[in-house]
Amino acid sequence: MSALSTEFEKNKQQVAVDVACAFCAGKRMHLVMDFGEVALAGGFLKKEDFASEPKFPLRLFFCEECFAVQVVDIVDPALLFQNYFYFSSAIRTLREHFVDYAMEACSRFLSPEEVTVVEIGCNDGILLKPFADQNVKTLIGVDPASNVIDTIQDPRIHTINDFFGIAVGEQIEKQYGKADLIVANNVYAHIPDINGVTTAIASLLKDDGVFIFEVHYLGKIIESLQYDMVYHEHLYYYSLISLQKHFERFGLCVFDVKPIPIHAGSMRYYVAKKNSCHARKTSARVEMLAKEELSKGYDRKETYARFGDQVAGRRDQLMKLLADLKKKGRSIAGYGASGRANTIIQYSGISHDHIDYMIDDAPAKEGFYTPGSHFEIFSNRRLSENPPDYLLIFAWGYFNEIAEKCQSYLASGGRMITPLPEVKVVFVPTKDSDL
Ligand SMILES: [Zn+2]
Repeated sequence: MSALSTEFEKNKQQVAVDVACAFCAGKRMHLVMDFGEVALAGGFLKKEDFASEPKFPLRLFFCEECFAVQVVDIVDPALLFQNYFYFSSAIRTLREHFVDYAMEACSRFLSPEEVTVVEIGCNDGILLKPFADQNVKTLIGVDPASNVIDTIQDPRIHTINDFFGIAVGEQIEKQYGKADLIVANNVYAHIPDINGVTTAIASLLKDDGVFIFEVHYLGKIIESLQYDMVYHEHLYYYSLISLQKHFERFGLCVFDVKPIPIHAGSMRYYVAKKNSCHARKTSARVEMLAKEELSKGYDRKETYARFGDQVAGRRDQLMKLLADLKKKGRSIAGYGASGRANTIIQYSGISHDHIDYMIDDAPAKEGFYTPGSHFEIFSNRRLSENPPDYLLIFAWGYFNEIAEKCQSYLASGGRMITPLPEVKVVFVPTKDSDL
């Protein structure tokens, strides 16, 4: 390595002077992880598109001033969300989750027949429909992906096919009045202009209105080394203490929190105006969680530096294992061609020297290739027809379900590798277990 590049590496680890915090505009930003130039994690493609595949830098930073953990490299949201291949209603556990959600919100905060509810990122109406079933008077869904919002053919729901922001907020207020409840699920972490959107939320909300949103919880990422949650769509990784600082700037506050087991660890945050009736009854859970986060160091750069080191350690172990197995001539396939898999592949530098192809349960992905790494995706039939010696389980959060599904593969001598939270080989011992 030349003296110049060594110097560059050294500087990169220090405070980056060229990036500012998306929340507080602070400049004391510390690099947590640098993925280099990577393809979009959701950008599955065909062979003929390899040459034109776009790549973007991907860096995760921690702001020492407001504790926000964030991706600073913004990709045009139009490229990411105009056509979205994720239909929430197709997933049964999600449907049940949102029915409970609507019932809880209505019984706790609303007299349904008199109120207006707005959902930011309403997808295919999975949450608005249960709200409609609770007889909510006015329901408005906003979503930029025309292919999903157009599937809501329900006369009880008004839809706006756009990105939510100040202009759309004003349009809603003019047409329907202010909102009693604004909900946003798994979108509040995806918004480049987070301050513009939060301004619009604060202004659209009635004085005693409530804003509820669910996002993946930073604590889960830190504790289980879930760095595979990091991709361009997912800009922010929220702790409660970072959100408290953020909402304070808009005259808002978090008055309750609720851990949600869905998506391997989300948190539901309840937000209201600082002088509202809700703020006066702030739950003790808020203070408890804030204290817990401070005791775990979520306000300190050292915590994130340690996280970055641990992640790099797991990567090195995994790459050594894959290289050793390949040296012995073993065949290895990846299992679960998701966006999260693509993050692990691209961060670790997993190439055709390490694994041979990918297997996925979704028939729609067959014949496509993974972004950046270009592994061909096969259906799970391949597991019985021509099984690999090893399966690298990218959906490691669902390891038990996958092991159960692949029982016959394991019983006939197949082996599984988990990349996280520990790099491990799992197999059923047989008389010739020396692979
Ligand atoms: Zn900040």
